[in-house]
Parts: sequence; C-alpha cells; structure tokens
Amino acid sequence: MEKLIIIGAGVAGWTAAIYAARANLDPIMFTGIEEGGQLMLTTMVENFPGFPEGIMGPELMNDLKKQAERYGTKVIQKSVTGFKKIKGGYEVILGKEKYSASTIIISTGASARWLGLPNEKKFQGRGLHTCATCDGFFYKGKEIFTVGGGDSAMEEANFLTKFASKVTIVHRRDTFRASKIMQERINKNPKIEVMWNSEIVELKGEPPLKSIVIKNTKTGGKKEYKTDGVFLAIGHIPNTKIFEGLIELDKSFFIKTDKRMRTNLPGVFAAGDVQDPVYKQAITAAGTGCQAAMEAEKYYEEIGGK
Ligand code: NAP
Repeated sequence: MEKLIIIGAGVAGWTAAIYAARANLDPIMFTGIEEGGQLMLTTMVENFPGFPEGIMGPELMNDLKKQAERYGTKVIQKSVTGFKKIKGGYEVILGKEKYSASTIIISTGASARWLGLPNEKKFQGRGLHTCATCDGFFYKGKEIFTVGGGDSAMEEANFLTKFASKVTIVHRRDTFRASKIMQERINKNPKIEVMWNSEIVELKGEPPLKSIVIKNTKTGGKKEYKTDGVFLAIGHIPNTKIFEGLIELDKSFFIKTDKRMRTNLPGVFAAGDVQDPVYKQAITAAGTGCQAAMEAEKYYEEIGGK
C-alpha cells in the first residue's frame, strides 16, 4: 500500500505533490489525459503572485511539475477510471491496473461546459470550440462568435482578435460578471462587439459549422448569422464522476470539503477547482493543494504511518 496517491495534475495537484514529497510521503501522481489542467489552455497568466511580467500557463505548469519531480514525486501518465474504499485505505483503478494507498488527494479539476444543444457534439472541434489558445489560429480573417460573460470569455474574445477580423460576444444577460479590468480591454478593442441578452439556440451546417441561430432572451426574437466559428467560455464542470456515490458532492457536483480540505472519507482530501465553486483561481488551487498535502501528512501520522 502506497502512502499517498494524488489524482490530477493541475496547479493544485502539483503543489500538493511538492509539499507531500518534501514530507516524505513518496507521492504517486496520476496525471490523467489533461496533464497540467486548465493552465495548459491559456496564454499569459498575469495574476499569479511572484511574476511581475506574467508567466505563460504551460511554462508555469512545467515548472511546477519539475519542482514536484525534483523532490521525488513519481509521475504516471494514466487516467484513473475507478475509486474504491478497501481495508486500511483506498483502491485507485486504472483500467486493468490497481494501486492502493492510505491517503488520497483528489485534484481532478474541472472541464469546459458545453451549451447542451442536441446536435452540438458533431460540431465539437469543427466550428465549435472551448479553447481559443488551441484553436483560434484556424480563424484568421474570419468573423466569429464567443459565448459567456465571465473573465474567460473576455480573455478569449481579446485573444481571438489576434486572428479573427471580428469577434461578437454573445451574452445571455445585459451585464458581464467579468472583472472591470477585463471588461475595459473588451471596450477598447475595436474588433469586438457585444450582443446582450442573447443565446445561441441552434447550430447549423454539415459540419463544419456554417451558421448559428441567436435568440433574444428579452423579446424571444430569433435571427440566423453566418459564421465559421464559435468559442464557448461558459464555465466548467468539476471532474467528479468516478467519485459519485462514495464522496459527498454538492448540488453542482463539486466535492464537499471542510476548511482542512477533508472530504467525508477519512484520509481522502480534495484540492483545487474540483472542490471550489467560488474562487477558481490558480493561486487558490495552489493554496488548497498545499493544505491538502499538509493534512494528508498529519492523517498518515495519526494512523500510525511513518
Ligand atoms: P464564470 O465566471 O462562471 O462565467 C461563466 C459565464 O458563462 C457567465 O457569464 C455565465 O452567464 C455564462 N454561462 C454559463 N452557462 C451558460 C450557458 N449554458 N449558456 C450561456 N452562457 C452561460 O466562468 P469563467 O469566466 O470561466 O471564470 C471562472 C473563474 O476563473 C472566475 O473566478 C474568474 O474570475 C476566473 N478567471 C480569471 C481570469 C483572470 O483573472 N485573468 C481569467 C479567466 C478566468 P451569467 O453571467 O449570466 O451567469
């Protein structure tokens, strides 16, 4: 039985690994397929303390990984498919393989939310995207749309104007929830327009996407717009499917933790976006990763581990 398994390699997971490795917990990290988490899909991170000029998301993640490995974290690039309570600890299942550990840190993060339209699956990656930094390049000189009113939507719209000739932000209300500084950047960008009180209700094309139907949420009126691309930035859903039924989740499927990052299962801690419906920042994910590792260390000592 291992001392500690960390599931998920975003900011929270790597920070937990750094602390746990330095506390001699010999952590095993299962990275999953989205190694590096959401920061791998972003460009410049301007608000992570300690980087006055900003740092590129992937660079930050790579540095965190190196730091975790330097202290002995064993990194395994596989996805966890199941999770079970067993005598004296927990079993982590990876297809046909099984590992067990006395303590677990869950840092599986959250994945992009889609619109939920009936035919949207067939347009995913063929006109409908959730990552501007990954796919924006394909829209050089095109007129495209983004959806959402948070910081991500502002950031994506701004970034997309590097390629697109025009970006229209479709937002379901008449105010943005994004921070003031991000909204100001949008206002100053001549390539960006905002369509308030609006939502996409239909996607049309073979695929690829050819046009979208937008409904005015106030009047109910609908209009069709020709477009090559739509980028969604409408929030994220926590990756908790494999823990359902065993670990207590809230009504939005975030893992419930107390102030010490403890879940309802003794020895199982959660950190980062998977348990955070409020802040969702890289720095808060790092903070909770540190807390979870320190709590795991304490728990391991309490159960008599050395
Ligand atoms: P968010 O703040 O939750 O915003 C999601 C947006 O999508 C909201 O405007 C919401 O509309 C809209 N939305 C949700 N479901 C929708 C649907 N089904 N159809 C249409 N619109 C929908 O998410 P986020 O922008 O990804 O940000 C998450 C967190 O990360 C925030 O705390 C944010 O501050 C942070 N963040 C920070 C930065 C930065 O500082 N540089 C960059 C990115 C993200 P309503 O407003 O009507 O609810």
